[in-house]
Amino acid sequence: MAGDAVRRAVAANLGLAEDLFARLAAASRDEVGITRPSYGEREQAALDLVAEAGRGLGLGVRTDYAGNLYLTLAGRDRARPPVLAGSHLDSVPKGGNYDGAAGVLGALVAVAALRRAGVTPAEDVTVVGFRGEESPWFAVHHIGSRAALGLLPPEELESARRVDTGRTLAEHMAELGCDLAALRARKAFLDPRRVRAFYEIHIEQGPVLEHDGIPVGIVTGIRGNLRARHARCVGAYAHSGATPRRLRHDAALAVAEFMGVLEAEWLRLEAEGRDLVLTFGKVGTNPEAHTHSKVPGEMFFTIDARSHEADTLDRMQEFALAQARAIGARRGVAFELGPLSRVKPATMDAGLRAGLHAAARALDIRASDIASGGGHDAGDFANAGVPTAMIFVRNPHGSHNPDEHMEMADFEQAVAVLAAALAG
Ligand SMILES: [Zn+2]
Repeated sequence: MAGDAVRRAVAANLGLAEDLFARLAAASRDEVGITRPSYGEREQAALDLVAEAGRGLGLGVRTDYAGNLYLTLAGRDRARPPVLAGSHLDSVPKGGNYDGAAGVLGALVAVAALRRAGVTPAEDVTVVGFRGEESPWFAVHHIGSRAALGLLPPEELESARRVDTGRTLAEHMAELGCDLAALRARKAFLDPRRVRAFYEIHIEQGPVLEHDGIPVGIVTGIRGNLRARHARCVGAYAHSGATPRRLRHDAALAVAEFMGVLEAEWLRLEAEGRDLVLTFGKVGTNPEAHTHSKVPGEMFFTIDARSHEADTLDRMQEFALAQARAIGARRGVAFELGPLSRVKPATMDAGLRAGLHAAARALDIRASDIASGGGHDAGDFANAGVPTAMIFVRNPHGSHNPDEHMEMADFEQAVAVLAAALAG
């Protein structure tokens, strides 16, 4: 059976991934964890390592205007739109070795396995290594994948500055030989109508697969978000002993009420069967002015609401604005939610998902549907109209931290599912 031959070939090529993971880690170790800054030397070293491995496998090696890496296995009909599979090679500061890299090396091992099993796919299969996916570095996300699709606004090249160097994205890109003229002209390297499918393996960033005891997840969709990064509530500072309740304009209690009513709305939306997660990740009074014996006159907070459903985010936005007005009026404080940013939810392709489930069943690999809470390069492809699917690998410690972990046996199963889907 072709599936079994592909699975054996994946197992036989696992050493390639183990070797590359070890060399990636050695090249990007920090005091704790792994640091591969977007558009930096360590990200470049990671791309060089993967390119060298691709050449060793006889794959065609190319880069695009933004310096993303493409390694291509020729298919039977080279005129057909290719299938792409990959992820990103940068990491957050002091993160783990697998967030991103597992998707690139997973795709590489899948392609190596097809070659070893003597399978020539119907169309070209291209392994992609994106740059600049993680947002801590330039405060913008998915730079490589958006640039590849011609979706990176040229002004970000100058406005985005890396947090550690203070230099612009354009300066960092120029240093690495990117084609800034093409990026300023917003030229697309990939035409979404000319990509048959995009697959991304990624470690799960939450605890669901570990909790359920299942090694592999087939992603149903990627949550979009509604965010207020600089919200505040302005009341009036007052003496905490001398000011009766009716004369107070307490910003802290107003924000506490606001958070409480938003949580209650979250429960109502959940009861309707809607998808939502809601987080107030930063909440605080002003340390310059606060003390235990003052009624707080100012509170800062953030809102991060995520959902698979754009209309659920719409409802949350309307509700938050209405409650800010109502609570503000009742308590004599002013809510200033600031700019609200929105990222569209991304739906994974039903046909590709069914194909991955069928591949898992045929290989006797346990896989379950799972939602993605974090954003991924795959979301940009899905929202550009490319049929897209993601495979998650169980991870006991979450991602974006040095304890992130992945068993190679779980990785092998995810790669086998991908390889079987690519074999067709
Ligand atoms: Zn990632």
